[in-house]
Amino acid sequence: MPLEIVTVPCLSDNYAYLVKGPDGVCLIDAPEAAPIQAALEARGWGLDTILITHHHHDHVGGVEALRNRYGCEVMGPAAEADKLPPLDMALKDGDRGGEGEALTVAIAVPGHTLGHLAYHFPNAGPEGGAVFTADSLMALGCGRVFEGTMEMMWQSLSRLAALPPETMVYSGHEYTMGNARFALTIDGTNSALISRCEEVVAKRAKGEPTVPVSLAEELATNPFLRAADPEIRARLGMQSSSDAEVFAEIRQRKDRF
Ligand code: ZN
Ligand code: FE
Repeated sequence: MPLEIVTVPCLSDNYAYLVKGPDGVCLIDAPEAAPIQAALEARGWGLDTILITHHHHDHVGGVEALRNRYGCEVMGPAAEADKLPPLDMALKDGDRGGEGEALTVAIAVPGHTLGHLAYHFPNAGPEGGAVFTADSLMALGCGRVFEGTMEMMWQSLSRLAALPPETMVYSGHEYTMGNARFALTIDGTNSALISRCEEVVAKRAKGEPTVPVSLAEELATNPFLRAADPEIRARLGMQSSSDAEVFAEIRQRKDRF
């Protein structure tokens, strides 16, 4: 049985995700309680576990209300435990839980915050795994580098980029339209990017989420993963720079965009 994954829009542009497997129901991030509770009730589901990606309020604001209602276990990055609601289990890179389809592996992806974790379900379904990336790798983008260094964020994105290409990427925000506009300024001759941007516009016009998307598609279109691309380097005049330096330039341009 593949995992059942439900996308729950929260706040103005956040996504939380419910993951139902043989061991129960797990929630990735809790921006606010009400829409998550509604999604659980609509399916007659309880809630067993909350996995927190990082300490920002728009990812943890609903944790206590959900814990009080469902008595679920709360897990999150040990490195940010002092900034998080009390954790029942503190996680670090490489920690794993569950088995079979529900196998979950924590991947440290520092940069946006120093303790940010992504959660990888390598056996999520017959087509491949799923990874919940919150504010690290995002659809056509990546999170702002607040606490870490550009080099650190580049290493984090590189780890995610090395997962199997069929992995489906579930990020924490619906920022894809703005990301698409920016991506075209960096990589505007990339035909895969141009057609993806058209799909993004069509989906948003219908009010549909633009996540998840396969890692293969991100690798072909997300400028933050394409620092090695010769055309992008030429356009930036950075042919002799390191990939991390090219990434840093792209990230800084996005900050000003
Ligand atoms: Zn954040
Ligand atoms: Fe966020």
